[in-house]
Amino acid sequence: MTTALVYDPIFLEHITPRRHPERPERLQRAMAVLEALGWLQREGLVLLSPREASEDELALAHDRFYIRSVRAAAERAAREAAAGGRVSHFFAPETFISARSYEAAAKAAGAGLTAIDALFKGEIDNAYCLVRPPGHHAEYDEALGFCLFNNVAIAARYAIERYGLERVMIIDFDVHHGNGTQNIFYRDPRVLYFSTHQAPFYPGTGRSDERGEGEGLGTTINVPLPATTGFETYEPVFRQVMAPAADRFQPQLILVSAGFDAHWKDPLANMYLSTAGFAQLIMIIIKLAKDLCDGRLIMVQEGGYDLQANAACVATSINLLLGDDAAVDSLGPPPEKPFRINTDVLIAELRRIHKLTGYRMRNAPRPDIAKLRREVKGPETEISSSDPANSNGKGTDGSP
Ligand SMILES: [Zn+2]
Repeated sequence: MTTALVYDPIFLEHITPRRHPERPERLQRAMAVLEALGWLQREGLVLLSPREASEDELALAHDRFYIRSVRAAAERAAREAAAGGRVSHFFAPETFISARSYEAAAKAAGAGLTAIDALFKGEIDNAYCLVRPPGHHAEYDEALGFCLFNNVAIAARYAIERYGLERVMIIDFDVHHGNGTQNIFYRDPRVLYFSTHQAPFYPGTGRSDERGEGEGLGTTINVPLPATTGFETYEPVFRQVMAPAADRFQPQLILVSAGFDAHWKDPLANMYLSTAGFAQLIMIIIKLAKDLCDGRLIMVQEGGYDLQANAACVATSINLLLGDDAAVDSLGPPPEKPFRINTDVLIAELRRIHKLTGYRMRNAPRPDIAKLRREVKGPETEISSSDPANSNGKGTDGSP
């Protein structure tokens, strides 16, 4: 297995104000953990430097006027910093820009493109893009929620335009709903967007009845989950809603919006996943990619604001992509929960909304009909189809 880690130190030069949760230390800590594990030199792992996405490539998911406004804001920030002024400037709600933010954001978007090129050249099997700023809140013409360019959306469109793919799936398990990704593909049937997220919560979108529109109707799947949801609900949602939806869609590439803010230690959210829980969920995704699209899988960093939890989840993801099955976990299981949600009811409702009730996965093991018949009949009641007593559908004793 060859896994790419796509990373560039430029990502640390996107500067946010003091005490802002989306800070350079998030990636620094993840890289430090990989270094401490000796995994940056690990067999099978290749380090790739992302290229900068061009304006044309950013325009696969964004308005050109908006792209230029991000660049202009970074240039203004550079001039102000050079004159001894502030380093980080408000740009949009929760979103800030510093002198090198455009370069960082264009390389964060470029990371997915670098990974896709390497994947389709056959140089790698899968990839982890360790990037910031994150992307899934970024809209077509608007920054939001720490995000400037929608990295995963640009990657999906690039795979479609450059490599002629017809179906790409985006799995977004960041604890926040990816409003930007949803909106960019809301009418696009070529991209299946699947999101699990805490609700009600920021940014307020992602109701289960938001299912896409026009030709894209049915290719948006939202799973809003109440605070305190843990693995015991995430796992059946992944196996019984996400997996059959993926199987029905038959993606040629799976992209993951990998946010680790549903970790129980995360300071921004209230979910109860552990690193080991994330590992199990990621293994479901890896298996799906193997079954459906020759293992083609690219994970792209989104949120995750507890430095230790995020770093552990990044290292775990890379370990799993390399083919191992162990989590890197020093934080352990979540605390006891005040209550449990009725997962069966939730799953049944989601399957009903998305017309998956009764759906059987194509590669699910088929029942052995001949064996079942033998078991039903037993050894003494051999029934011949030419027996006239059976031709009217009645048994030999005349009962219906
Ligand atoms: Zn998030």
